[in-house]
Amino acid sequence: AEPLLSVQGLRVHYPVRHGWRGKPLAVKAVDGVDLTLHTGQCLGLVGESGCGKSSIAQALLGLVPATEGMIRLDGHEITGNARVPAMALARSAQMVFQDPMSSLNPRQTIREILSGPLRLHGMTDRAEREARVAEMLSLVGMAPEVASRYPHEFSGGQRQRLCIARALILRPKLVICDEPVSALDVSIRAQIINLLLELKDRLGIALLLISHDLGVVEHMSDRIAVMYLGRIVEEGGWREIFTAPAHPYTRALISAIPDPMHRDRAPARLGGEIPSPLSPPEGCAFHPRCPLAMPRCRSGDGPEFTRISADHRARCHLLQTGNPHV
Ligand code: SF4
Ligand code: MG
Repeated sequence: AEPLLSVQGLRVHYPVRHGWRGKPLAVKAVDGVDLTLHTGQCLGLVGESGCGKSSIAQALLGLVPATEGMIRLDGHEITGNARVPAMALARSAQMVFQDPMSSLNPRQTIREILSGPLRLHGMTDRAEREARVAEMLSLVGMAPEVASRYPHEFSGGQRQRLCIARALILRPKLVICDEPVSALDVSIRAQIINLLLELKDRLGIALLLISHDLGVVEHMSDRIAVMYLGRIVEEGGWREIFTAPAHPYTRALISAIPDPMHRDRAPARLGGEIPSPLSPPEGCAFHPRCPLAMPRCRSGDGPEFTRISADHRARCHLLQTGNPHV
């Protein structure tokens, strides 16, 4: 079957006003990304802040134009001449944000918040809107009576449930979750994660989970793509990534997971800051922080993907040379 989402060669470059020596300069936030996502799947997109994962989300929602490449979502071509307006895409993809407080209008009742998108998309019948609002509240485990209340009357976890209800109200096929539990109390994170997984299976939707925390991604994703400075450096199924991580960056992220299950692993701290995408390092962009960097990692265009198995690939020179230490 055709995938729900197919991304090929996506580049999102932001022009910068003052180029070096008058040359036009661009921040290469996303620099050649391929992704595939099928209905019923959860794809985890992992990386540190500034790696380009949020720019991918914005491109998928039609909020920033793709500089280059192809995005096909739910039968729509989002890029190029046939670019679909963000309004039309709202029925295909919706977003759940990190901070459930600031993403709900404090002056609106839950009813107004949830029925706003329905009105905007032409559902003129009030009773029909009421029924959809009640249906979505029940889906996220809230009573229909909460519709007349205001966001401040709810806890952080309840507010995130309401944000999920709002994301689902137009019955999208894809829900993009950007750090959906990072702002929540540790004790309620599992509830929200389980709710998202349950809804994915019940509604037959796909999830794109964006997070800096490989621990959150571990519990939700069928597939995982690890991003570094605008590029995917490793991609594979859950099993491949967590039992046989191939890229030194992925391995560093796994050892940073604060999960008791992984405490036996060597605590390999990832030193250094992520470099600016305005002036990415030559060669493999990860080389200034890589404990295994070799001379050849410091020049050229950086490593291409090496296929490790049918469902697993990574970009690292060590894989190309068949180095046994990888
Ligand atoms: Fe490290 Fe070199 Fe592999 Fe990049 S290509 S991850 S610098 S070993
Ligand atoms: Mg971000």
